[in-house]
Amino acid sequence: MHPNLTLITHPLVQHKLTRLRDKHTGPRDFKALVEEIATLMAYEATADLPSESVDVETPLERTRGAEVSGKKIALVPILRAGLGMVEGIARLIPNARVGHIGLYRDEKTLEPVDYYFKLPGSANGRCFFVLDPMLATGGSALQAVSAIKQAGGSQIRFLCLVAAPVGVRRLAEHHPDVRVFAAALDRELNDRGYILPGLGDAGDRLFGTG
Ligand code: URA
Repeated sequence: MHPNLTLITHPLVQHKLTRLRDKHTGPRDFKALVEEIATLMAYEATADLPSESVDVETPLERTRGAEVSGKKIALVPILRAGLGMVEGIARLIPNARVGHIGLYRDEKTLEPVDYYFKLPGSANGRCFFVLDPMLATGGSALQAVSAIKQAGGSQIRFLCLVAAPVGVRRLAEHHPDVRVFAAALDRELNDRGYILPGLGDAGDRLFGTG
């Protein structure tokens, strides 16, 4: 139904997501859960990353091992809620570079416009992980992916916690090469663009600003 979508159905991810959805979960636990889920999702989303063969000296002898080049990976959170996913992934890939994309919605066109855009140097050969806990209308995701492509990026993955069908579909229509990883595909959007059942405003819950 959504050929671009990989759902992470691991019981630990689903357990933590359920706690995240709970309206009684406060900002401190919310932040910890977002990080933990991001770590577990990154494990899945990096399963097919290329690695290089390297030599390694054990205390006993020399052997061959494998190394993922962390410097070739860029984490790109969409401000501000995407920031909550960075630490959890960086724990697994400490050498990953981190870019940032800040978007606001133009009041006339209602389209997202980037007010901040900074990627690590040289997009060549780099794999970009765009991070945003909620893939709702897909407007921000489309803008972020287009901006990274304009900067020369070609390998792009989108990691979110909760996705709405319309957002997944729009990404597939405009960027069929971008795989989406999510912990849940929820039912629909309400008339204010919130995902149902969702978890509310991820930025507000993360930063305690609601
Ligand atoms: N952004 C959020 O934080 N929550 C939603 O449900 C949709 C977009």
